Amino acid sequence: MEGGCTCRNIRYRLNGRPMIVHACHCTWCQRETGTVHALNALYEAELVEHIAAEPEIIDTPSASGKGQRIARCPVCKVAVWSNYPGSGPAVRFVRVGTMDDPTQCPPDVHIFTSTKQPWVTLPPGAKAFAEFYDPAEVWSDETKARHRAVRERVKK
Ligand SMILES: [Zn+2]
Repeated sequence: MEGGCTCRNIRYRLNGRPMIVHACHCTWCQRETGTVHALNALYEAELVEHIAAEPEIIDTPSASGKGQRIARCPVCKVAVWSNYPGSGPAVRFVRVGTMDDPTQCPPDVHIFTSTKQPWVTLPPGAKAFAEFYDPAEVWSDETKARHRAVRERVKK
């Protein structure tokens, strides 16, 4: 699948399926997206291939105080993915709304629902956590293996 920014200067190809898709309802994501939640598909960095221009990386404050790095189109400034300190540059949180077909990546889990806008109702049975979750409980075996492989590569 492919995606990109509004002016089409940034185009990316996603090679494979995401490890997991987060709907984040924290107030920081609400501000950064201008809407009720972020929708991020987590990919190993090497599976997110830029096929036109390269994005610019903008250091942005984050709730943890450690900051996040947001990859934006240098022309239209639309954000296409970001890195968080936890996994570092090895994992790209791709903004699902920039994909050509966002319907392919519905959320696997809703996080920080303690600050969810009260009029947003989650589907019955949706996995939801007031803050963050324990990956051991939520991730599939495949996701655990992929994330382990990412961390091994980072250590080297
Ligand atoms: Zn652009």
